[in-house]
Formats: sequence, C-alpha cells, structure tokens
Amino acid sequence: MIRLHVQGDLAPGAAVAPTLDQSRYLTQVMRLKAGDELLVFNGRDGEWRVSVAEVLKKGVILRAEEQMRPQAYGPDLELIVAVVKKARVETIVEKAAELGARRVRLALTHRTNADRLRLDRLDAIAKEAAEQTGRMDVPAVDDPVKLDALLDGWEDGRRLMFCDETGGAPAVSALTHAGDGKWAILIGPEGGFSPEEGERLRSLPFTTAVSLGPRILRADTAAIAAMTLWQAAVGDWDR
Ligand code: SAH
Repeated sequence: MIRLHVQGDLAPGAAVAPTLDQSRYLTQVMRLKAGDELLVFNGRDGEWRVSVAEVLKKGVILRAEEQMRPQAYGPDLELIVAVVKKARVETIVEKAAELGARRVRLALTHRTNADRLRLDRLDAIAKEAAEQTGRMDVPAVDDPVKLDALLDGWEDGRRLMFCDETGGAPAVSALTHAGDGKWAILIGPEGGFSPEEGERLRSLPFTTAVSLGPRILRADTAAIAAMTLWQAAVGDWDR
C-alpha cells in the first residue's frame, strides 16, 4: 500500500491535505480515485488508513479512517556528520532514515570543505526514505553547526560513538557492553578531524572512540557501517 508522510493531525474522520506534489503522485502516477485507500503518518499520531475523499484541481483531500498502529519511535540515535560533498550528504541522510537515526546533525569541522547544501532537499530525502521503511517518524535534519559549538552544548546523558580512523577500540566489543540510552555517532570529513579536534573528542567523558577497521572509509560508508554496528549491538535489531 502507498505510504505517505503528511503534516496535518490524524484523528477519526479528519480531513488531511497532502502537498501538491503528493497529490499529483497519488492521482497522476498511482491513478488513485475517490474511495481508494493508502497509509499516512505525521510523526505524532501513529499510522492511519485513509481514503481519498475528494480529487480537486488544487490537490487531493484524504479522510482518516482508522489508526493502524500507535505512534512509536526507534532508539534515540543521532548521527552527527561533518559536511562533505552534497551527493554524499544526500546518501547519508537517506541511509540514516533507513537505519533508524532520529536526527541528523551536520557539523562544520576544521577540515570541512563545505558544499552548499539545500536543507529542503535533505528533508525531502529523509521523508521519502522514512515513508518506505515503515517507520512512523521522519528524522530531522539540522542546519550545519560548528563542531565545537555542538560539543559545548552537549546534552546530558547522551553518549558519543566517535568514529576515529586514527585508532580506537574495535567497534563491536566497545559497543557490546556500552549500554543503551541516548547515543550519537560522529563521522568526520574527507580530510579527517584535525589533531586538536581528535584530542578534544577523545578527552570528553561521554566519548567512546571506535575503529571501523584497518581501511579508511569514505564518510558515507563509515556512517552506514557505524549505524549498522550500533543498531546491532545497542539498538533495536534484536527486538
Ligand atoms: N583522515 C582520512 C579520511 C577520513 S574518512 C584521510 O584523509 O586519510 C571520513 C571519516 O569517516 C573519518 O573522519 C571517520 O569519522 C570515519 N572513518 C573512516 N574510516 C574509518 C575507520 N577505519 N575507523 C573509524 N572511522 C572511520
């Protein structure tokens, strides 16, 4: 069944207006007619079966019929990734949505060679990936922030899996006994972290520095590998 993320509230009988692009997708690509059904979610009210109530020139109106699943969230995992080339950031955002990150934070580091990113495009990628995974929330993608500022404002109780290509404990053993709760994964830029950044990161009390093996990975590969290991060792893959 078609599954879309919508903005509006979902409650019995509620009218929901998808975006114009979504309306076109429903009527022109999928050829839905009044009475046809699909699934929607908004990140708050769970997953709903809705029907096409009206097909208008300016878009489709959906009617919420029945809640199929209550709202649920995956484990509290953030992915922090240094800004790298636009195409790689797009891959990273898509894979973060698929691999169950709740939020993607973009970091500016000493060696970031910032490509101009379009946040609206990254949001759309996160949404589309979330729609196809069956998850009931869409990971937020935050505006780029300096790594130092991000560390200065670190949230109490959140732990950091610092992916450190210059050394660090083997990831599986480091994570196996690390415990669950709030986590973030940090991936550096193509030029790596500067020595000062590495030093600061390793000295923080909430950091676990891990190695992803003896080969240097590209940032997108490293992000996917790290999220996979985290989900298997700490996250919800055993549920
Ligand atoms: N400094 C490297 C490239 C960095 S790769 C160089 O130029 O040789 C980009 C990021 O991916 C790194 O900062 C790190 O966070 C992660 N990464 C890549 N390979 C890794 C590995 N083998 N172990 C841990 N992290 C890795």
